[in-house]
Amino acid sequence: MIKKQILLVEDEAAIRQMIRIALERHNYEIIEAGDVAQARIAIADSLPDLLLIDWMLPDQPGPDLIKQLRAEERTRSVPIIMLTARAEENDMIKGLEAGADDYIYKPLSLKNLHARIKALLRRAETQTSSEAQKSILKSGKIELDTHSLQLSIDGHLVHLGITEFRLLEFLMSHADRVYSRAQLLDAIWGQNSFIEERTVDVHILRLRKALKEHDSAKVIKTIRGAGYLFVKEANQVE
Ligand code: CA
Repeated sequence: MIKKQILLVEDEAAIRQMIRIALERHNYEIIEAGDVAQARIAIADSLPDLLLIDWMLPDQPGPDLIKQLRAEERTRSVPIIMLTARAEENDMIKGLEAGADDYIYKPLSLKNLHARIKALLRRAETQTSSEAQKSILKSGKIELDTHSLQLSIDGHLVHLGITEFRLLEFLMSHADRVYSRAQLLDAIWGQNSFIEERTVDVHILRLRKALKEHDSAKVIKTIRGAGYLFVKEANQVE
């Protein structure tokens, strides 16, 4: 079996070592980088299956690196977990807005970290195992290619993080049905996730922002007190 490669970007050698030892035990290959410059060299050398990026790094803040990765074709869908010592909701949201798929607070629970890595890798992989399924979801000018993980609106490619993509894919393939935050968490993050329901709102916000740039934010509707739904084109009200 090929080992999944994880790039760990963290400047504290002791934390790097602790994470590396714990994850190697679960059969991951860990590449270490002490700052953003080293991380970029490692990524240029080989694209990891997942990145763990610390918030505080000596040359640039972690969220800046995440933004750069999301802006580049080659790295835009690679799963990213942010590590942060700041248990502040605003910082968490800032990290998610930069493009992280998940976040974890320090001091780290290695068990929690491993669970999140597993869940995120599974989410990124679901596609490859569903080769036989229909790959294009379409509603009006919105087209989702679930094989190449590409969203296009009116023929324009729109960038989405992997979590926003999964959310849109789930809502589109169950159009016109309302899903609560808890249901979305189960469907997208898996039942073992430790994620707070508030996280769903953050990802919905990011999804809407991307859709809004192409005048399509109205396809995702909030039903107060109930949750979210995707509105099929035929049912959209201008
Ligand atoms: Ca640090």
